Parts: sequence; C-alpha cells; structure tokens
Amino acid sequence: MLSHSAFLAFVVCAVGASAAFVGCSPAQITALDAAIPVAQTYAAAALDQINADPTGSMPGYAAWFGAPSIARRNLVLQHFALVNGNNFQNYIYDCTGAGARCTPNVAAYVDANTFGTVNLCAPYWTLPPDSRETFQSQASTIVHEATHFAANGETRDYKRTVGDCQILALTRPDQAVMNAASHEYFAVQSALV
Ligand SMILES: [Zn+2]
Repeated sequence: MLSHSAFLAFVVCAVGASAAFVGCSPAQITALDAAIPVAQTYAAAALDQINADPTGSMPGYAAWFGAPSIARRNLVLQHFALVNGNNFQNYIYDCTGAGARCTPNVAAYVDANTFGTVNLCAPYWTLPPDSRETFQSQASTIVHEATHFAANGETRDYKRTVGDCQILALTRPDQAVMNAASHEYFAVQSALV
C-alpha cells in the first residue's frame, strides 16, 4: 500500500470546481487561478473580433494575419470558435516542468494530441500575470497553447516574438494563420483595445 506522502505525490488535485493541477505549488495554483479566467476573456474577445470582420480586412486582423483573405480569415475564425468551445478551467495544468520540451526558452508546451493538458515550464512563472503591460503573459500563453491542440486547429510555432509575428503577417500570411503566437497576440489586442 502506498504511503500517504507517496499517494500525494501522484494525485491530481482538484481544487474546488476549478482546473486540475499536477505538481503545482500553492503559489503556482494561485497564479493559474488568476490567469485562467483572463485567458478565457482573451479567447472570447478574439472570437468577437474575428466575427466582426467577415472579410479579414480590419487593422487588428491585418497586424497579425496579414492581407485580407476570406479563406484565411475563416481559418482563424474556426480556430477561435473551437478554442471558445473549451473551458480552460477543465484543462489539466502540469507544473512539473519535467518534459524534455521544457527548455530555458520555452514557457509552456502541449502535445497536440493530448487535448487539454498544458505543460508549464520555468519561464512561464516569470511572465506577467496578464497582458496589460506586454503582449505575452501567463494568461495569453494559455490561449497560445489552446490553439496548438489538434482539436482546435493544431497551430504551429513558426514565429514567437511580437516583432517576428508582425513580419510574418506581412510576408507569410499563410503561416501567420497557422501560427500560435499570432493568435495569442491577436486575442490580447482584441481584449485590450
Ligand atoms: Zn507554441
């Protein structure tokens, strides 16, 4: 029989009615409990914004996804419609940072086919809680990761920084509409304007 402490080491703790946390400290759970609902508002704002732009020709769209294109706009709409079908409170947040994909430059990652599990790496905890000061935050990262799930469109990581994503919109809009960070920043901009 497992000892009590061994059991605790493997249990997935459900705190109240909120998300499941794996290997998260109390401070990390507090941070995630704050970031998750903010992320949900960013995703909702993105869907509202893309719905308001049926031809993909508004400046907010162009900044992150490039030249007008109904087909590309519809792809972004599909991604955000799918993401908004998710309740981020129902995801599993793994704070163990044990995955080989956690590196000093990676804040978080998912396995596209392991729907709902978000792996958080050490740099995640250095991000600001929300995006009022800078685009990338703990909240926006959840939106970014959500778009990577195969069930949500399986975006890729072509570019990550704000500047690189803005250039990608101008040069490769076909990649921008499949780039996770472009969705992340579009969502932040949609929520904060
Ligand atoms: Zn990514």
